Amino acid sequence: MTLYTALLKDSRKKVNLKTYLTKHKDEPIICPVCEVDIRVDAEQSLVKSAYFRHPSNSICPTIKKNRVDYSNSLSSQIDRENGEKIIEYVKNHSFDIFNKCTTLADGLSVSEFRELIKIANDKKLWYQQGLTSLYIPYVLLTFKDKFKESEGGKTRNDDFYFVLEPSVQTLEQLWGKSTKIKQNIWKIYLSEGKDLQDYTIQEDLISPEWFSNTQSYINKLLEV
Ligand SMILES: [Zn+2]
Repeated sequence: MTLYTALLKDSRKKVNLKTYLTKHKDEPIICPVCEVDIRVDAEQSLVKSAYFRHPSNSICPTIKKNRVDYSNSLSSQIDRENGEKIIEYVKNHSFDIFNKCTTLADGLSVSEFRELIKIANDKKLWYQQGLTSLYIPYVLLTFKDKFKESEGGKTRNDDFYFVLEPSVQTLEQLWGKSTKIKQNIWKIYLSEGKDLQDYTIQEDLISPEWFSNTQSYINKLLEV
């Protein structure tokens, strides 16, 4: 898993590798997820294509070995009463949760969604202390190692996976009291073709990327 998207350190503008090399070469850049200084590597190599490289001691989850499997990093703090409420919520809002997941995971299939719910159920996610309905779709998406292009619908054009910020090592830290934890989830593509996406964890439905042309069409149509 290789990083092909960076932020310009000064303006925090998102740039892909090609734009960086052609328009911003030598400007300082940081990783969009962990925010440490990164640099271009393998630029001169004929064998390997160039990418943005982290320092060697990096804990950034964009590097595969650092990715936390949150389904195995649940807190031992459980809340049975809240868990029962969450289970009722999941039963009554399955399609809402599916829709929310689909807006982030392009081409999410129902079998992929069932698999995510199954993992959550096997691991007893519902009983995690402090869990609220807001977090359910986002957490589910982190339970899959890789959403493969070949297994998704036609709006999926690449393999991708989701990460939370590097300091979240067990899930309850995400909704815990620390105000330093970013309420974000990042979608990382496995090839250079598409930019890393970040999403704020929020109640509202987010327009998926494949809808953006239709959104522009509607905006234009309704212009007065
Ligand atoms: Zn990073």
